[in-house]
Amino acid sequence: MTEHRSTADKDVATHLHSYTNLAALPQTPPLVIVQGDGIHVVDDQGRRYVEGMSGLWCASLGFSNQRLADAGAKALQTLPYYHTFNQRTNVAVADLAERLLALAPVPMARVFFANSGSEANDSAAKMVWYYHNAIGKPAKKKIIARRNAYHGVTVAAASMGGLDGNHRDFDLPLATAPARFLHVDCPHHYRYAEPGETEQDFSSRLAAQLEERILAEGPETVAAFIAEPVMGAGGVLVPPAGYFEKVQAVLRKYDVLMIADEVICGFGRTGNMFGSTTFGIQPDILTCAKALSSGYVPISAVMVNDKVHSAIAAHSGKLGSFGHGYTYSGHPVACAVALETLKVYEDQHILEHVRALAPAFLAGLQAFADQPCVGNVRGVGLIGAIELMADKTTRTPFAAEHKAGYRLAQLALEEGLIVRAMGDSIGLCPPLIITRTELDDLFARLARAMERFQ
Ligand code: PLP
Repeated sequence: MTEHRSTADKDVATHLHSYTNLAALPQTPPLVIVQGDGIHVVDDQGRRYVEGMSGLWCASLGFSNQRLADAGAKALQTLPYYHTFNQRTNVAVADLAERLLALAPVPMARVFFANSGSEANDSAAKMVWYYHNAIGKPAKKKIIARRNAYHGVTVAAASMGGLDGNHRDFDLPLATAPARFLHVDCPHHYRYAEPGETEQDFSSRLAAQLEERILAEGPETVAAFIAEPVMGAGGVLVPPAGYFEKVQAVLRKYDVLMIADEVICGFGRTGNMFGSTTFGIQPDILTCAKALSSGYVPISAVMVNDKVHSAIAAHSGKLGSFGHGYTYSGHPVACAVALETLKVYEDQHILEHVRALAPAFLAGLQAFADQPCVGNVRGVGLIGAIELMADKTTRTPFAAEHKAGYRLAQLALEEGLIVRAMGDSIGLCPPLIITRTELDDLFARLARAMERFQ
């Protein structure tokens, strides 16, 4: 007879967790989430939490949308699996590609499907290299990203990312000669602007720094620039005024492709369907995932414009095949759920809802700005962050061992609210379906946690 173990005990003994201090796991048993409804999730002790992060920035329709469950069930019963290699396709993938092209923030020509944001960004990097080989510029291969960026954890995606924790002792960024992955400064005005420097001036300085870097590397070697419209895991960093306009002027000058990583910003988060629209980004390549299916099934997409597509299509003709794709690219069940997600966004007027609620969300964040330990609050649409400071007048951060963000997130958890600690910042990214009353409840819980943090 097998001994009965609790889920937490079984999990600690058997499951190698993502993003967890594995050595400390036995002393800090995992939170076992068993159920979800609306914007709430429930643990195995029956405690209910407001999910202020939509899980990992993804469950934008909350945790119990029946239409998505029905769409998944129907797809499983009709065609549970098929692939998209060698001229195979299915109804849902063709419908979804057509719908995504119609929603794209700039004219796009084709959509490639993968399963995660990391895979989408890895695919984008490979397409950038393939494209430059196709157009006879094999030396143009370097991809520039930003410090504190997050683009995922696969080898290329983590190399493009700019967070130490994703590099250290994984031997990343991938080292090649010449280097393929470069990083420029992070556009966090509050932390990195010079005293008195306006957002516009800060943006001009960062754009000038980017240009210097491209010139130092040799423009004939620089292939692409990748950016999240709002940097998510790096601390919810809303770009300073003029940033993308100035950066893109530099990219155009040196014929460098723009990749927008819309994995968090896509599908309404910033108040438009894509963050690119909110911040005036004209990407050549756009990656998205997460809210594409409200997180209900794994799916991601890479959209490419005609310039990129026509070159890689012609090159694949010469080589005999575009040698890239996943077993689950265009999975019929994932595509059916994503398609239904996009329909729900439309039927429930989600964009209008986000725009209507955004002022209350931003005011709710702003209400914390006067707290002695709060240095900065920021946000756009329904994504935001509160940055903690040991001494806000001198802008002295908390010492690392203080784990300020983590402590506040733990206190919030005790108040029945899930937020995300990112260094000294805590992030909020609630389901887009959140109501005004639920938003007030979220901030009331956070206020109680903040009171205990002081
Ligand atoms: N890009 C961004 C902006 C993200 O926030 C994430 C995940 O949080 C990723 C890429 C990676 O996505 P995934 O975890 O699905 O691989």
